[in-house]
Formats: sequence, structure tokens, C-alpha cells
Amino acid sequence: MQPAPPNSLLGLTSQELTNLVLESGQPAYRAQQLFDALYRQRIDAIDQISTLPTDYRLRLGEMGWQVGLPKIAGKFVSSDGTARYLIEMADGETVETVWMPEGDGGESGDGSEAGDEIETSSAGTASWRRATICVSSQVGCAVNCRFCFTALLGVKRNLTAGEIIGQIAAILRDQRVQPPLQRVNLVFMGMGEPFLNYENFMKSVGLLVEGIGIPEARMTVSTAGIVPRIRDFGREAVRPKLAISLNASNDSLRTEVMPLNRKWNLGELMTAAREFPLRTRERLTFEYVLLEGVNDAAEHARELADLVRGIRAKVNLIALNPGAELPYCTPAQERVLEFQRILVGAGIATFIRRPRGRDIFAACGQLKRTIELPSAT
Ligand code: SF4
Repeated sequence: MQPAPPNSLLGLTSQELTNLVLESGQPAYRAQQLFDALYRQRIDAIDQISTLPTDYRLRLGEMGWQVGLPKIAGKFVSSDGTARYLIEMADGETVETVWMPEGDGGESGDGSEAGDEIETSSAGTASWRRATICVSSQVGCAVNCRFCFTALLGVKRNLTAGEIIGQIAAILRDQRVQPPLQRVNLVFMGMGEPFLNYENFMKSVGLLVEGIGIPEARMTVSTAGIVPRIRDFGREAVRPKLAISLNASNDSLRTEVMPLNRKWNLGELMTAAREFPLRTRERLTFEYVLLEGVNDAAEHARELADLVRGIRAKVNLIALNPGAELPYCTPAQERVLEFQRILVGAGIATFIRRPRGRDIFAACGQLKRTIELPSAT
């Protein structure tokens, strides 16, 4: 993997900013001014930090520091209000990040429905009561789930903590949204496997909570099943909620659609899920992409119910987002409903996720499918 570009202020913690200002002979309170400018005001150039003296702003520039806010290189808006952003990092690498305004879909109880069960608003304008940002953690992905477009890219590099936060900061600026005054949920379900970029991902979580003001209870991270990191994650004092991308009800099927299953099989994964230390009222989420004729039969639903039974969890069903490059087809709606009915009948809370932004390739598993769309704004 190539290294990420250095010298971005975005991504530095309070302590790291304090070290930086003290090393430059500045008083320690300058660190708080920098922190506020970076994370609360979300400035995009050092000369906008009006609380800092001009000579220190110049000095930071001379030392090679820059804010590090990534550039919005493209924005594609769906008829359902979803916006897919192409975000360009300082070295020219790009990732995609998705903004999903959710109309007046209402509160979700434990807040764990981020991105789910959406009441589609007519034009996705100012009518949303909460919004969800789907965030990328790597340029590409190494996991190779066979139903996913991002997998076709392979992995180029990890994003830094600053680049992970930078996607969110850039979109909040563009949408003129100010958390916590406006409710924003984050789902780490974009390009990449966050648990293969664990340290940068967790550092970004801390900064999002402390700096941008999005509580960890409004964040969900999805993993394909990196079992050792699931265990590490359970020990974190401040952490998002956990979703596990399951997609199969037995080992042979899971190895077929997610070759990662050879490394950590369903037995190990479900043991880690059962032992995961849930907080009061928290539920695990299991995601299950339905692939026609592969994992969508009644027997698979019954196997899945047996796997999940006894875990405080819900299942999100996602009918495959179609595409010629993928070896699978989308199941019929009746099949999806039947799958849900069997799970619900077995006592498993099960939801069907409605696709968002399918017309602009922003739906689940479609990121980076193409960047050449005629409707770019
Ligand atoms: S589904 Fe997620 S983990 Fe799997 S290849 Fe796609 S981006 Fe990677």
C-alpha cells in the first residue's frame, strides 16, 4: 500500500495540537483555538483561523502544515435526495461518501437504524429531520466480497484519521449542517473495511465525538468479520455500534460469497458476536445481502434464525443492488418478504433496507462503481 500524505492538521488530537504549538514556542491555549477552527468551524485554510496571530498562521504554512480538508471533486444527487460525493485527497486518491437526508422518518428508538427504513422525501431538500453520512475508511478494499463493486478495485491505501474526518467535514460544509444542533448519524459502511484500518478509524471516532460533536451512539461501524478486531472493539471505552456483514447462513455459502470466511469462519465469528459486550439497550446488527438463488431460500432464513437466536440483535436484509460486473442477481420482492417473514416468525427482529440513491450508484455495495455520470453538479 502507498503511504498517505503527511502534514495535515485535520486528524490531530488536542494533545497532538498542544505538542505542535508548544514546539513552535506558542502558548498552550493556541491548541484549543486550532482544535475549534478545525473541528467546530471546519475552516479549509490556515489563514481563516482568525483567532491565531497572522505571523503564527504564516509560520504554520512555512512549516508545511495545511488544514487537509479533502476536495469535493464530484457530487451526484439522486431523485430521492441522496447525494454521492467523490472526495479527493491531497495525493489525488479518491473515495466516495454518501449523504442521505431522511425526511421525517422519525426517531429510531436506540438510534441504531441509521440509514435504514427510510421515509423517502420528495426532493431531499431542507425537509430532513436527520441525515446519515456513509463514510469510507480505505481507498478500495482488500476483503473481496463477491457481491460488492468496491471489491473490484482492490485496496490502494488506508485513509488517515484526518481523511476519514475530512469526508464528513467537507459534506457538513457543503450541506451547511452543524451537529449537534442538527442530527447527523454516521455509518462506516462506505469503501473499505474499517477494522483493517483500525487505529485510524478509532482515532477518527474520538475526534468526531470530541471535535465535531457527533455522539458515538449515532455511529455504526460495519465489519465483514475481522474477529480479533471485533474483540478489541468491544473493549473500547468510546465506540460506535457494531454491525456484522453476514450474508450467508452456513460456512460453505459464506466462503463462496465472502472468501474472508476461510480465515475467520462462522463459528468463530458468531462466538465473537455472542461474547460482544453490548451496552444497555444496544443491539448488534447483522446485515444480509440477498442474492437470488444463492442465499435467499427459506432454508437459509431458518439457518440464519438459528445462528442469530439468543443474541440481542436485529437483521437488516438488503436485496442486492444489481450490476453487470457482479455474478449475482437481485431477488424478487416476494422472496425478500418471505425471507423476512420466516425470520420474524422465528422471533428475530428483521428489517428490509430500502435502497438509497440507486440511480446514482450510491446504494449499498455500489460505491466507486463509476465516476463518469452525466448528472454531476
Ligand atoms: S462489502 Fe465492504 S468489506 Fe466487502 S469488499 Fe465491499 S467494501 Fe470491502
